[in-house]
Amino acid sequence: MSTFAHRYVDALAGDTSGDSRRREVTGAAWSQVTPEPVSDPTLLAHSPQLAAELGLPAHWTSDQDWLAWLSGNEIAPGSRPYAMNYGGHQFGNWAGQLGDGRAINLGEIRDVKGTWQTLQLKGAGPTPYSRTADGRAVLRSSIREFLCSEAMYHLGIPTTRALSLVGTGELVERDMFYDGRPTMEPGAIVCRVAPSFLRFGNYQIHAARQERDLLAELVHWTISEHFPEMDADAPDAPLHLIEAVLSRTAELVADWMRVGFVHGVMNTDNMSVLGLTIDYGPYGWIDHFDPHFTPNTTDAQSCRYVFGNQPRVAHWNLAQFAQALLPLLDDVAPVQALVDSFPRQFSAAYQKRMAAKLGLETLHDAELISDLFAWMQEIETDWTLFFRALMNFDPEDPDVRLLDDAFYAPPSMSDVEQIMDWMTRWSEAVLDEDDQESRLARMSRSNPWIIPRNYLVFQAIEAAEKGDMALLDDLFDACRTPYDVQEGREDLVKRRPEWAREQPGASMLSCSS
Ligand code: AMP
Ligand code: MG
Repeated sequence: MSTFAHRYVDALAGDTSGDSRRREVTGAAWSQVTPEPVSDPTLLAHSPQLAAELGLPAHWTSDQDWLAWLSGNEIAPGSRPYAMNYGGHQFGNWAGQLGDGRAINLGEIRDVKGTWQTLQLKGAGPTPYSRTADGRAVLRSSIREFLCSEAMYHLGIPTTRALSLVGTGELVERDMFYDGRPTMEPGAIVCRVAPSFLRFGNYQIHAARQERDLLAELVHWTISEHFPEMDADAPDAPLHLIEAVLSRTAELVADWMRVGFVHGVMNTDNMSVLGLTIDYGPYGWIDHFDPHFTPNTTDAQSCRYVFGNQPRVAHWNLAQFAQALLPLLDDVAPVQALVDSFPRQFSAAYQKRMAAKLGLETLHDAELISDLFAWMQEIETDWTLFFRALMNFDPEDPDVRLLDDAFYAPPSMSDVEQIMDWMTRWSEAVLDEDDQESRLARMSRSNPWIIPRNYLVFQAIEAAEKGDMALLDDLFDACRTPYDVQEGREDLVKRRPEWAREQPGASMLSCSS
């Protein structure tokens, strides 16, 4: 493993006071901080794939030094820990300074491919950005982040990664349902890894404070470090950055929609400039297709971040990001034109993926999708199971019974007619197009066999809280090859059981983490 570098910290103005008291930190892109030691760290889980990609030494999982570094009990050699300064719009309202309130960056190392990767401990203690909170994270939310980051990666969707899950041996107080009845929960720390954790909010905070020079330096640094194909010195460089962030976000959200992922809290501080999935909080997956589904109880009324609204929210967030870069540009018109192009870009990215899910190279008939969605919603149909079942259909002789497992209730006669009708159109479309082998290959790359369903993660957490890591380990392992049928793991790819439909902690999650 290479030694730590501090490219972000060395390039940008920071707060070197080392003062971790909660406060507004102005004129600084980061603050020097120190993780707070924990009493009894244990390595509960880790990602061998990521460790290999980072080139970690053999036996690192049994090395006491690594445990000390990943729990924040000791500072790894060469590391100068820091927290990032950022703001954000939460649920549509400007919230001012937020920042890394419990995430502490250790610095950057080169992975085996030579790419710089930042290592970050989430839940490692308070920083100047902790506001009224404690700087810690609970085991349940840390498991959720650890598992889903790696699952998302293996699904082929851009994301921050997770190297390790460390139990702190300490309890943390949380009011999970915001009902005035806090309980003590086990604490944990996840080591997250990404080329950068920069969010839209990192730019917004300097724009809001009219720190134009710092904003310009941050934009310049972002481009030279993360978008080397662009000329960071060009006068319209910020415009190109907006363009790149926009297209990455379009691709990302289209990918989320493809696999049925609901982020749950798409605040601008939870939007990555690199187009990564970032900050796994009250996220979830649609089981039956439902555009109105949100796992986030805080959003149950406003429905801002429901599954089907994610493209619109991404657009709104991108407008805020573009707005933050306006002080660096002379002309607003091209910025507006770019922002306005988002729905088109998203649509293209989405249609491409939907076509592939259906096995088509190109989608000639957009109504094939809208009509599918209409009956899927009406006849509660499981998103993941439906598309896998479709792969088994013989377009020459479609048999609706193959779909049985995907329905949450048996379809009526008229439902079956509606489905048959659609199946006939689908069959015609695929038979029209190309050879069946490439159709199946396309479908099997687009339609996961397994996703870490909300209720499974809930069960894995319940067991882990009692000290049994078997289900978590199994789920983690199964999600490493999500597009492959895995014999013996059929239990992990069933419809959501009825008890989990509105189960707090499974289908209903709070932001308390
Ligand atoms: P989130 O809703 O997780 O995106 O967090 C919003 C803001 O609250 C960020 O600035 C977080 O760092 C901060 N935050 C969330 N939980 C905690 C915590 N337990 N301690 C300190 N800061 C926190
Ligand atoms: Mg966040």
